Amino acid sequence: MILRGHASEGRPDVAARVTASAAEYEAMLVEGRRHDAALVDRFRHDMLDWLTSQDTMLSKNWGRFVDSIEALPEKTPCSVCGRRTVARAFVLRIAGAVPRRETVCPSCGSVQDMPLDHTLSMSVTPDGWMHLHGSPPRSEWLARVTIERFFTRETLHWDWPAAATGEPAQSFQVPEPWPHVPFRLSLIMVHGDCEFIVLGCLYRGPLSPEGDAVDSIA
Ligand SMILES: [Zn+2]
Repeated sequence: MILRGHASEGRPDVAARVTASAAEYEAMLVEGRRHDAALVDRFRHDMLDWLTSQDTMLSKNWGRFVDSIEALPEKTPCSVCGRRTVARAFVLRIAGAVPRRETVCPSCGSVQDMPLDHTLSMSVTPDGWMHLHGSPPRSEWLARVTIERFFTRETLHWDWPAAATGEPAQSFQVPEPWPHVPFRLSLIMVHGDCEFIVLGCLYRGPLSPEGDAVDSIA
């Protein structure tokens, strides 16, 4: 499990919490105990707290467990800026870990990091709206928007809301003006028992005809 051995890199309180709930969760699985929905829910919350306390380009974290890498044929346009992306599939040397796909844009950095069989992307508009495209988990999910400001090292968080039917809302507007660009914007989603998805970008502001980043009003 990625958490084990690396939780110490997060904030100590968050790391201790997620390590404890991960141990309980693993014991439930190993001992074949009855599915404890409250424990799974707590583990999901703790995992989201821990993941969002890390550098949100989380492939830097799991990258040290990579066993093999395969370049994927798709060269889809970046959902944020439209440039052509590169996608790779990663098999991890962790028992039970599903293969992951990471899609990297030459401008935005890591824009998708998720289990190989998932399809989800994010677009961003200058007025602070973020939009999901594809197939998010229908239930048993939690997600949080994180902004990492490079110059102040300040991190901002907002929980992603649910639609009335329980799945993640298709769009969400961060309830404050975007901070000054550039910043890394991420949506981290934990779903099922312990899978996670990272949609993100190095956000430089709206594209202008000259290709210059434009400062936000913040
Ligand atoms: Zn891009």
